[in-house]
Amino acid sequence: PKHSYKWQRILLKVSGEALAGDHTQNIDPKITMSIAREVASVTRLGIEVAIVVGGGNIFRGSSWTGNSVLDRSSADYIGMLATVMNAIFLQATMESIGIPTRVQTAFRMSEVAEPYIRRRAVRHLEKGRVVIFAAGTGNPFFTTDTAAALRCAEINAEVVLKATNVDGVYDDDPRHNPNARLLDTLTYQDVTSKDLSVMDMTAITLCQENNIPIVVFNLNKPGNISKAIKGERVGTLIGG
Ligand code: UDP
Repeated sequence: PKHSYKWQRILLKVSGEALAGDHTQNIDPKITMSIAREVASVTRLGIEVAIVVGGGNIFRGSSWTGNSVLDRSSADYIGMLATVMNAIFLQATMESIGIPTRVQTAFRMSEVAEPYIRRRAVRHLEKGRVVIFAAGTGNPFFTTDTAAALRCAEINAEVVLKATNVDGVYDDDPRHNPNARLLDTLTYQDVTSKDLSVMDMTAITLCQENNIPIVVFNLNKPGNISKAIKGERVGTLIGG
């Protein structure tokens, strides 16, 4: 190992919603910059960072079901394209502060980014580059959470760090119940049986089958991203 932190290689999932903040133009440059700065601080330590970006700040396929013109697959392709926009924005932000970054897309857009090639992604990581995976899994009917679990397993990353706008997983909805408790740890079983909205079932199951722990944490608290990446206690840990 190159260092003594908990993980050597991590997968950070950043949802589109998290990128939006309260900015009126879909992406808040203050948020992308804070992500870039925190990622920079850990790549300097030698921790390898791969990122999966969502697209919900721009387009979410599922919210178009029932539309008579757009079928679900077409809507989902638009959603996947939205993740590419976020990825390019994030890449530009990272490179503006000197972090070498590659975007790889799940379907070809060769003028814009590299196609996803697993071994090449791993090579980039080994060289200290950040790799941003865009266009989800490349398939309609999936989510970027599932893409995060999938890419994590493929590149042998050790954990999915899910950056959200909440502190972690609660035993009830904290927006409606002021007594809702933040949970420190959970099993996969807890998540599926209690129907806690952490990730969709496909993503959870993929993590469980591959023994990939998930950390759900708040990216709006300064220092949280780098803490999560360094393996310090933050948010809710799901595993076992
Ligand atoms: N999407 C898809 N297949 C994937 C990943 C994403 O079809 O493998 C589409 C889907 O329409 C989704 C949209 O892309 O609503 C944006 O992704 P997601 O909702 O997961 O983004 P997030 O919630 O993380 O912002």
